[in-house]
Amino acid sequence: MKFEDLNLLPSLLKALRDQKYTEPTSIQEKAIPLILAREDVLGSAQTGTGKTAAFALPIIQHLEQENTPHSGKRKIRVLVVTPTRELAIQIADSFTTYAKYNNVKNTVIYGGVKQGSQTEALGRGVDVLVATPGRLLDLMNQGFISLKDVGYFVLDEADEMLNMGFYEDITAILSGAPKEKNTWLFSATMPSAVAKIAKKFMMIEKR
Ligand code: AMP
Repeated sequence: MKFEDLNLLPSLLKALRDQKYTEPTSIQEKAIPLILAREDVLGSAQTGTGKTAAFALPIIQHLEQENTPHSGKRKIRVLVVTPTRELAIQIADSFTTYAKYNNVKNTVIYGGVKQGSQTEALGRGVDVLVATPGRLLDLMNQGFISLKDVGYFVLDEADEMLNMGFYEDITAILSGAPKEKNTWLFSATMPSAVAKIAKKFMMIEKR
């Protein structure tokens, strides 16, 4: 299969050619059509399988096609939550790379550093927020972040997130987002705890 067979926008295909990707990986082949169709997905995929592009590409396409005028400040329409700072930075970089020819802005927030530059970036307005849970909740509680316009939510490394004790944080974060949204959950392993949060947070019955 080729990326051209996945109904992706020419701007995204061009960004992929720049990256010299020739063929979609297995998770990309499976997840991209489902995410484009707004089906909630519970994806079993480890880091290194190309899972970031599997969700970033169709999400950028949705944002581009929503064609929201940017006269006012951009609102967070996509939230990606991931357990570590390294992963958060990598995911945000991927959004920047794949959205090279699109009008989609992202920023990344994580703990362990001063919040000033992060709140400034948020203040300028972004479409996509990539975050680790602690800093995200902290900035939500301080009033720097509103999730009320989030239509797309990605929970990355769900198993790791649970192992690190982030269940309560994720629940608190999601209480600030609309109920009506797509949720895409990725996990390297699928223990019953992951199945449980999938059931709680995803509209699997929609499928
Ligand atoms: P990820 O699993 O999302 O962390 O991606 C692992 C690595 O694979 C990253 O360096 C990506 O740039 C690269 N990658 C993602 N998709 C493809 C693809 N279809 N072809 C070649 N490399 C890819």
